[in-house]
Amino acid sequence: MTTSECIFCGMARNPTHESVIYRDDRVFVVKDINPQAPVHLLIIPNMHLNSLAYVGPGQVPVMGHLFVVAEEMARREGAALNGYRLSLNQGEDAGQAIAHLHLHLLAGQPLGTMG
Ligand code: 5GP
Ligand code: ZN
Repeated sequence: MTTSECIFCGMARNPTHESVIYRDDRVFVVKDINPQAPVHLLIIPNMHLNSLAYVGPGQVPVMGHLFVVAEEMARREGAALNGYRLSLNQGEDAGQAIAHLHLHLLAGQPLGTMG
């Protein structure tokens, strides 16, 4: 897949994309189109990285920033106190559907012990 075909690269390139609820110079956040919990956000690096297999030392700052923004978004959604789950689907067995690395943030109800 080229970045011109990547749905998340399209959102990253479009500063006024309607579904983007947060953006800075390194990451952006959208509400998942098919939410699995009352709060279901996707935290996405602006740069195209297919998966963790493409993350090396040079990407450590942006990877760290994903988690900082996740906590900030959880606060904004009122989910930081009760808790939330971050997940990253890596590859086929995890069901990764979009080959542009992203974190899922799930919250707003008890989420069980695993998932
Ligand atoms: P993955 O399985 O790759 O970790 O997750 C991809 C996620 O992206 C899914 O939860 C899916 O519902 C979500 N998604 C797919 N297409 C779109 C879209 O066009 N907009 C938004 N906001 N989410 C999408
Ligand atoms: Zn992309």
